[in-house]
Amino acid sequence: MKPTAIDHIGIAVTSIDEALKFWEQSLGIKCTGVEEVAEQKVKTAFLPLGDTEVELLEATDPESPVAKFIEKKGEGIHHLAIRVQNLEEALEKMKALGLRMIDEKPRYGAGGARIAFVHPRTAGGVLLELSERP
Ligand code: ZN
Repeated sequence: MKPTAIDHIGIAVTSIDEALKFWEQSLGIKCTGVEEVAEQKVKTAFLPLGDTEVELLEATDPESPVAKFIEKKGEGIHHLAIRVQNLEEALEKMKALGLRMIDEKPRYGAGGARIAFVHPRTAGGVLLELSERP
């Protein structure tokens, strides 16, 4: 599978604009852009930090998984993403091991990445995202 790095940490927020006041103004970590991922009904903002990034996630629809997460648990860490070199290969391997997946096939992620989620029950209670960057 060859995971190479922690790609990013996703944080669910009710408002990216509000959250950026803390991340940019208080911590000095600059946002490189906001993007809407329609398929997941979220708006994302990426803040590079060293070799990894913080991803802020704001729901754009009450049916968004991020809206449901905030409703249940409040704002906070939503997922951990690790970078893989070949997502198809990683998914095949996980399926062969009988691991519980949310995505059986790659889907589009912010920044042109191809991503797939692993079920928290498989990953020690963590929603794990596998991310392959272009
Ligand atoms: Zn993510």
